[in-house]
Amino acid sequence: MSKPFNGAVAAYIGLGSNLDDPIEQVRSARADCAAIPGVRELAFSSLYRSSPMGPQDQPDYINAVMAVATALEAAVLLRHLQRIEQEHGRIRTQQRWGARTLDLDLLIYGEQGIDTGELTVPHPGLGQRAFVLYPLFEIAPELVVPGLGRIADLVVNCPLEGLKRID
Ligand code: ATP
Ligand code: CA
Ligand code: CA
Repeated sequence: MSKPFNGAVAAYIGLGSNLDDPIEQVRSARADCAAIPGVRELAFSSLYRSSPMGPQDQPDYINAVMAVATALEAAVLLRHLQRIEQEHGRIRTQQRWGARTLDLDLLIYGEQGIDTGELTVPHPGLGQRAFVLYPLFEIAPELVVPGLGRIADLVVNCPLEGLKRID
């Protein structure tokens, strides 16, 4: 993985989709994230297939994790991610963890711990989710997750739960 530019923060974005050609959704979202002004891609994981969390009557997910260097504040980066979700036709329903064309979660933002109404970083599910931890470990095996510890220790304690790498 290349290094962030001067003054930039290394951040990690989790991508997920299970509607309308999920592989293409994730591939094009990668390009959309890399095109955010003030963001540069550092690394992108393989694509993974995972079983849905929550409601089981929905298709499997395609997941990946992207490392970026960014000059943007975390809240500004999140707004761009939400804009990209909208541009991918995401429809928000009442159902928690329901099917979606695109989900972009800000997993990690430098060393920072953030907890405002709109944004919690590191992302609260990160430590327990195979579809986040394994792709993160693939691109950043030396990473220490703020508040949680070494990614290598987190993955060994996380069952795969059917996660499969697909490329
Ligand atoms: P989960 O957050 O458990 O993965 P989800 O991705 O389905 O579930 P969403 O409906 O996409 O949840 O997001 C709900 C809210 O989470 C958003 O409105 C956003 O403000 C908030 N949020 C808090 N922290 C984060 C973060 N680190 N990344 C993305 N959204 C976040
Ligand atoms: Ca999510
Ligand atoms: Ca989300």
